[in-house]
Amino acid sequence: MKIGQDTAVTIHYTLKGPDGQILDSSLDREPLTYLHGHRQIIFGLEQRLEGAEAGAQLDIHVPAAEAYGPRHQDLVFPVRRRQFDPEVALEPGVQVVTQGEEGPLVLTIVGVEGDTVLLDANHPLAGMDLDFSVQVVSVRAATPAEIAHGHVHA
Ligand SMILES: [Zn+2]
Repeated sequence: MKIGQDTAVTIHYTLKGPDGQILDSSLDREPLTYLHGHRQIIFGLEQRLEGAEAGAQLDIHVPAAEAYGPRHQDLVFPVRRRQFDPEVALEPGVQVVTQGEEGPLVLTIVGVEGDTVLLDANHPLAGMDLDFSVQVVSVRAATPAEIAHGHVHA
């Protein structure tokens, strides 16, 4: 069966960034199962998996615009040091979670100068072209309940 709208798809994947560094991989854990055509995975990857069958091994390049979008410099903003929990190590690269209007928001510390901490609300992968190595483990038709719910059942 080919991957298409309303199929339940199981894949193993390795994600590499622009310098070839491995950013994420399912190979050391359970494979990822998702409902195809429901935007559960990044759109550029979902589109390029269309038509593949179980056993396929694919190298898929997704430009930033079809992954996490461009970086927006205006999403980098300064915050006073005293607004942080004193437990948090205020160092570049540290991620802090705050409550946004639409749920939790992950912010990355990108700089610390004196009393000022620079936060970046961009997705950590924004602005990056992504390279996926994907192994299609299985493909089956989703059940009517899965399609209605918009997710795969175990
Ligand atoms: Zn359900």
